Parts: sequence; structure tokens; C-alpha cells
Amino acid sequence: MTRSLTLLGATGSIGASTLDLVRRNPDAWRVEALTANCSAAELAALAREFGAKVAVVGDENCLPELREALEGSGIEATGGQQALCEAAQRPVEMTVAAIVGCAGLAPTMAAIERGGTVALANKEALVSAGEVMTAAVAKHGATILPTDSEHNAIFQCLSGGRIEDVARITLTASGGPLRTWSAEAIAAATPAEAVAHPNWSMGAKISVDSATMMNKGLEYIEAFHLFPVGLDRLRIVVHPQSIIHSMVEYRDRSTLAQLGPSDMRVPIASCLAWPKRMDTPLEPLDLAAIGELTFEAPDESRFPATRIARESIEAGGAAPAVLNAANEIAVEAFLAGQIAFTRITALAESTLERYSASAPRTLADVLAIDSEARQCARDCLENSVLV
Ligand code: NDP
Repeated sequence: MTRSLTLLGATGSIGASTLDLVRRNPDAWRVEALTANCSAAELAALAREFGAKVAVVGDENCLPELREALEGSGIEATGGQQALCEAAQRPVEMTVAAIVGCAGLAPTMAAIERGGTVALANKEALVSAGEVMTAAVAKHGATILPTDSEHNAIFQCLSGGRIEDVARITLTASGGPLRTWSAEAIAAATPAEAVAHPNWSMGAKISVDSATMMNKGLEYIEAFHLFPVGLDRLRIVVHPQSIIHSMVEYRDRSTLAQLGPSDMRVPIASCLAWPKRMDTPLEPLDLAAIGELTFEAPDESRFPATRIARESIEAGGAAPAVLNAANEIAVEAFLAGQIAFTRITALAESTLERYSASAPRTLADVLAIDSEARQCARDCLENSVLV
């Protein structure tokens, strides 16, 4: 049976992993829409290969290049933020939300408001919109399939269980490339060192987030919304081998864990095939070769991001959206060589201290908070106002 698919963020790392699975199962999928920001040539090549009906660039300036690259193909080319949302609104059986950052929020909400099934990799969208997104899911009867490896693991461990029987959910964290570094060495980490993740191959932004542990902070907020067990039942444990992707402990003290290779094609496949299973090209897990699985507590003195994220959940309202916006600005500045590594979380914390807004009720409120918090973070950067 052929199913229809839209992939938001087709030219990224999650996009490539998704399309690798689709390529291996050509009869299973019909591609409706593929999107990018400005990688027009790459997007056009993918749209041709997969026979997409429409290809969309978020940046309108890149539309002429996309049009030219798609000439004679019969594939519609569109551009701009509205076009991304229109593409996400086209009826399909599966939408993979894999744009990076809050830029993916409006198109993801468009897919949710259509009542669709959304494989959600774009964690920043849920972190920023929180209750606005979960309320839209309930109102429009949409289905969210968590694609982030940890949340996908939890989702799998919860299948057949009851949320009211959960005693604890434990998110595992690899600890990132700087896990064993001293505070002094961390302060001097370069962009190349920060993106060199030991276990996962990912886009630049999430790689830096893994190095600061903000990725785990964002995942903490994501888990808070996806699995309503309350903050005091959510834990983080560092597990450097990235073999156990997360765990659910039930009230009888049974703990279920999901294990697998560190390859996003595993959780993506679990979403694409849900509620069934599909083949992936990965080797079976060889536990004897892996030898040992180790665990340690997160060190919030060297990596304060998980503390800041926890405090932002406790503060509630606009705080998680502010945290996310400031972090995006800080990561951009770090990758551009403008600030030192430890300034990333310092800028996030400064922005949270300086900017507050009332709790967002609509998508427009979230987008306004995101935009104002970005401006506040940029002002902090320009004035070097950092805690
Ligand atoms: P990448 O940076 O590799 O890809 C991002 C994608 O989003 C690209 O297609 C890019 O297009 C597009 N994009 C970027 N900015 C915009 C914008 N302003 N408007 C529209 N499209 C835009 O990111 P990843 O694939 O690594 O991550 C995607 C999401 O998945 C993130 O939220 C990340 O946190 C999450 N995730 C990723 C994992 C991974 O292993 N990579 C694991 C778990 C979650 P273009 O090429 O034109 O720039």
C-alpha cells in the first residue's frame, strides 16, 4: 500500500535519513512536498528523484534558483514562509517535521491543524509552543509521533503501558564531545570541537546543543509536554555509549529501556511504519562487542543548560520559548566565531532574566515572543551584557 508523505526540512540530516528509508522502499511512499530553506539545487534534485508534486524554499530569495532547477520537470516550485505552511497543509498520510529551530513551528502547526500524523523531529517547535501545540493536537485530532531518539524510545516503552502507572521517565544523554573536559578547556572549545559528536552525525545546531547539553534541556521540555507525568518524574542520566535511548520505570519498579544503534534511521523508521515495523539497513546490535553500558549523573556545574531548562519549565508561560530563541541566537553567534562556548548558555540565562512576557495562547503569541526574545538576545550580545 502506497502512503503519501511530506518532508519539511528535506535537505538536512534528518531529511537525508528519512529519504534514505523512502529510497529503499519506493513502492511504500508517494512524496507530496519537500522543503528546504535555501538549498535550492539540492532540493530540486531530491524533488526530481522522488517525484514530489511541490518543492518549497523558505527563503523567497532562493525561489528563482529553485524554479530554474525544476524547469521542465512539472514539479511546482514555491517560496516563502506562507508557502511552507501551504505545503504542510496539503493532505498527506505522514508529515515529517525536520526543519531546524523555531522556523519549523508555523509549518508544523499547519500540519497539526490539518489533523495529520506528524513525525516530530523539530523539538524547538514543541519547546517554544508547548501547550499551544498540545492543545492544537487535541483540538484537531492530530497524531504526534516523537522522532527524537529519546522520545521515540519513551514512546516505545510506553506502548502497552498506562501513563498513570509510570514512576519515572529517564532521558539518556551521551554527554556530547566535551563530556570529560575540564571547565577551563570547555570555555575554550572551538566550533569544530563542539560539533564533533562522538556517537551521532547531525546538523550543526543540534551538535552544538549536544555539546552544551542544551539539547538535553530542550528534550526535557519536549518530554514534559509529550509525556504528562510531571516534572518530578523526569530524570536525565548520562550514558556515553548512546545505546539505551531512554527508559520508563513503572510503579512496580520494572524499567523498560529501548536499545538500538546510534542512527536516526531507527526512530524515523519506527515513526514511518507506526504502528507496524519496517526493515532498516542497520546491523543488529552486538552487545558483546559493545561490552559495557555505563551511566553517570549530569554535571550541571560544567554544563548548566539542563538546570536552566528545568527552571524554565518551572517558570512556565513564555520562559521555554524565550530560552529556545536565545539559545538559537547564541548558537549562531558561537558558530560564527563571535562568542566563546560558555557564553552560549550564559546568553540564554541573561535573556531569560531580561525578557519576560505573558503566557502565549496562540501561535501568533509564540511567534511574537520568539521574535522579541531574539531581539533581546541580540541586544545582550551587542552590549556584551552577559551574566
Ligand atoms: P539540519 O541543519 O541538518 O537541517 C535543517 C533543515 O531545515 C534543512 O532542510 C534546512 O534547509 C531547513 N531549514 C533551516 N532553516 C530553515 C528556515 N528558516 N526555514 C525553512 N527551512 C529551514 O538539521 P537536522 O536535520 O540536524 O535537525 C532538524 C531537526 O531535527 C532539529 O530540530 C533537530 O533538533 C532535530 N533532531 C535532529 C537529529 C539529528 O540527528 N540530526 C536528532 C534528533 C532531533 P537548508 O538546507 O536550505 O538550510
